Amino acid sequence: MEKHPKAKEEFTGFLRQQKHRITPERFEVLDFALDYDDHFGADELYIKMKMNKSNVSRATVYNTLELLTQCEILAKRHFGDNKTHYEASFNRKNHDHLICTTCGHITEFRSEKIQKIVDEISTELGFTPSGYSFNIFGFCKDKNHCSHFDDNG
Ligand SMILES: [Zn+2]
Ligand SMILES: [Zn+2]
Repeated sequence: MEKHPKAKEEFTGFLRQQKHRITPERFEVLDFALDYDDHFGADELYIKMKMNKSNVSRATVYNTLELLTQCEILAKRHFGDNKTHYEASFNRKNHDHLICTTCGHITEFRSEKIQKIVDEISTELGFTPSGYSFNIFGFCKDKNHCSHFDDNG
């Protein structure tokens, strides 16, 4: 069975509408991106694809990630390290992040309260929110756990 059929359908529609070429390489990037269980940088994804014997070029990885973000299959995140992190946003609920500034470990959490505050403030100020970003910076609870720097790159 084909992986991620719904996301592919969405992406195909987007590429057609925006008059981008529909190439198998772009869908290969989509598969790897959605199979990535964590937040990732473009180079991390590229390396992972190379290790899996993909022939996709670095430029294709970069511009496909950009397209996947534009059609909201992926979301870009900034965690204060001057690096763009990507994560799957297709069919996922809003969530926010705790970022350890020592090891770079990222923990996701969900809080209805934050969404509520976003809605309340936007309504109050007559603003239509299309997204928000809420990051908590600090340190891992368990200092021994605080060592997997390479997990998130
Ligand atoms: Zn996340
Ligand atoms: Zn840590």
